[in-house]
This record gives sequence, structure tokens and C-alpha cells, in this order.
Amino acid sequence: MLNLSIPEHIEPLRGKVLKFVEEKVYPQEKIMLEDDPVTRRKAMRGLMDEAKAQGLWALGHPEEIGGGGLPFMDYVFVNEVVGRSPLATVALGTHSLQDSIMLHRYASPEWRDKYLKPLVAGEVFPSFGMTEPDVASSDPTQLQTRAELVGDEWVINGRKWFTSGAATAAYTTVMCRTETGCPDHAAFSQIVVPTDTKGYNIVRDVAVMGEYEGHYEVKYDNVRVPKANLLGPRGQGFKIAQDRLGPGRIFHCMRWLGQAQRAFDLMCKRANSRVAFGKTLGEHQQIQKFIFDSAAEIQASRLLTLHAAQKIDQGDEARVEIGLIKVYGAHMLHNVIDRAIQVHGAKGVTEDTPLERMYRHARFARIYDGADEVHVQRTAQRILKFYGNGGSFDFGLR
Ligand SMILES: Cc1cc2nc3c(=O)[nH]c(=O)nc-3n(C[C@H](O)[C@H](O)[C@H](O)COP(=O)(O)OP(=O)(O)OC[C@H]3O[C@@H](n4cnc5c(N)ncnc54)[C@H](O)[C@@H]3O)c2cc1C
Repeated sequence: MLNLSIPEHIEPLRGKVLKFVEEKVYPQEKIMLEDDPVTRRKAMRGLMDEAKAQGLWALGHPEEIGGGGLPFMDYVFVNEVVGRSPLATVALGTHSLQDSIMLHRYASPEWRDKYLKPLVAGEVFPSFGMTEPDVASSDPTQLQTRAELVGDEWVINGRKWFTSGAATAAYTTVMCRTETGCPDHAAFSQIVVPTDTKGYNIVRDVAVMGEYEGHYEVKYDNVRVPKANLLGPRGQGFKIAQDRLGPGRIFHCMRWLGQAQRAFDLMCKRANSRVAFGKTLGEHQQIQKFIFDSAAEIQASRLLTLHAAQKIDQGDEARVEIGLIKVYGAHMLHNVIDRAIQVHGAKGVTEDTPLERMYRHARFARIYDGADEVHVQRTAQRILKFYGNGGSFDFGLR
């Protein structure tokens, strides 16, 4: 049965994380807008140390790799409050969860030893290189980066972009075509490439909607790495990527709900305090409609996400449900922040509120981890399959 309330035993921890985000992280958000990377890094290190001191670090990582070992559903609820600030994922050590699980499950013992502990401890950062500028990467069977096994080394050539965090990462996990003469979906593998390897060339930091946020274009010129840098078996790159993305999307969606809650709070406070034409904004019907639509969308998105999370927790891949929340959640986030900006008028697009930054990120959410249209297509195809054999997609039984 779908249980929507925060379990009692997790409330104190969730409250502690929320307090940390509100009291420690929010005040640093302005500093993180500074151009000086040294100031930014120092501020972030301070937050990370504080999170560790308070016992809030890497709560969702498995215990055996140095994390807090929170069960999946408990962590889902904690993630909702982590999401209130985009800085909090790094400050609380949750940013590396998907990458560390990939290494834990699929890396050779040598690479596990080299990266896993430092990764979970926040001493090194990961990055992931899949998307390429020259092909529609929504259809990743088209990716052109190739890796060839020459003796005991992989030799990699190609070009990627939107490798987020590449310049500060210790390594990039690169999706490459390694196989020929087999179906495309079995032709790609993931290979770990330390970013200081010869031939790993950062071409540029790609500005996104007017900001440099660390999404890099990277050229691979005869990059050579040991054979043991392959993750899992050859040709399993897409399967491993799927393992990474499924539960990861639940965490994304819960964090989006945290962002939406923050925007909603700001919108309601503004609606109650600002006066126009003799009454508060909240007394105007059009603004009431903003509040109503936002409340309905947040609640719907929350129910969808918790439902998907519970299915995953019960061992179901929940592909349909994850498709629904990725698309619906990203739109919800975009809509709620958009309305909150509108209620703030000109102030909403300044850096005096966090809304303009949140808005840009919400726009990205409809593209990263798979564009809306791809999820719509796959989800609809999966639903239609139920009807193919004379069956139906019975919501009551999901
Ligand atoms: C902020 C941000 C961070 C990112 N970080 C990373 C990262 O760290 N590593 C990484 O590898 N990538 C990253 N990405 C890239 C992201 O994963 C890709 O942009 C995404 O997968 C889409 O690929 P594409 O850009 O090549 O778009 P394309 O595949 O060219 O698609 C363009 C558009 O075509 C349409 N389209 C595509 N397929 C269909 C379809 N089946 N039906 C109808 N319409 C369709 C959609 O409207 C889509 O938006 C990031 C992107 C952003 C914005």
C-alpha cells in the first residue's frame, strides 16, 4: 500500500538535514555566485566539513563503501529536503551516489581501491561523458566515440560535450563504442578515464543560458588507459547506464519537489505581503489560481514520485512510473518556479531571490537525463504493449 507520510523514525534526521540546508547552505548561495573559484571551493569545503561533523554526510551511500547506509525509502524522504538548495547535494555528499554505486558494482578491484573511498569522502569528484555534439545523443546508438583494445590498453578517440564537472573531476566515465558486428545496444561500453590522461583535452566550458556552470566539451585524442578501466563486461555500457539512472531519477524528482516547495513558500509569502490595487496579491483571483495550480501539481508530482519509489523499493524496475515522473516532475518544477517569479515581478528575475537561478535549472531538467519527448515515447510504447496481448494497463493494479 502506498504510504505517503514521512516515516516517524526518519523525521528527526530529515529535520536535521533541513535545518542544515536552511541555516548553513542558504547563506552560502550568494558566495557561490562569485567568479573566484578559490572562494567558491573554500565555501563548499567549509559546508562539507560541517556536514561531516554533524553526521549528515553521504547518508544514502551504502555503509560498506563509507556512507550512512540509509535504506532507500528513508533516503527518498531525506532527498526531498536536500533538494531545497542546488548546493546541498555536494555539501551533503549525495552528488556522487550514482557514480560510486557504478564503481562499487562494476569497477575492477584496482579502480575501486583508487577512486571509491575518496569519491564517497568527497575528496575527488566524478564526471560522466555520454553526450556528443555531433549526433542526437537521445539515440545513443549513434554515439561516435570509439575505444579500441590495443594490447593491454584501450585507445579512445572522439568528442563529447556536457561532461558536467570535467574540469574539477578526477575521472570521466566515458561511453564508447567498443564492439562491431553485433546489435547496437550491445556495442557500447563504459571506460574510466582519469582526467589527467594524455590526450584528454578540455576544449571549452560551454556557457548555458548566459552562465558558465561547468558543462565541458572534451576531445579524446588517442587517450590510452589500462584494459582494467572497463566497467563491467564489454558491450554492457547501456545496461550499466540504466542501473545508474533508474533510482537516480527518483532522487532527482524528490529534489525537484524540494526546489518546488521552496519556490512555493516564497510565492505564498510574497502573495500575502505585497499589496497592489488596495489588496494583497494573494487576494487577487489570478494569483490564487497560481497558488492552486502549483499546489495541485506539487502534490500530484509527489504522489507519482513516491509511488514510483515504492515500486523500485519492492524490486520492480518501474519503467513506466519513472518515465511519468521524469516528465511530469520537470514540468511541475518549471511551472511552479515560473509562477513564483511572476508573483515577485522584477525582483523575481534578480539575484535578490534564488528564483532566477532555480528557473534556469528547471529548464535544464526537461533535457538532461533524457529529453521529455524520449520519455514520453518510451513510456507510451510500454503502456501500449500491455494492450498488445489483449490486456490493459490497469492503474488499480500498478
Ligand atoms: C545542464 C545539463 C547537464 C548535462 N550533463 C550531462 C553530463 O554530465 N553528461 C552527459 O553525458 N550529458 C549531459 N547532459 C546532456 C543531456 O543528457 C543531453 O542533452 C540529452 O540526453 C539530449 O541529447 P542531445 O542534447 O544530443 O539532444 P538531441 O538528441 O539532439 O535531441 C534534441 C531534441 O530532439 C527531440 N527528440 C529527440 N528524440 C526524440 C523522440 N524520440 N521523439 C520526439 N522528439 C525527440 C527532443 O525535443 C530533444 O530535446 C546535460 C545536459 C544539460 C542541459
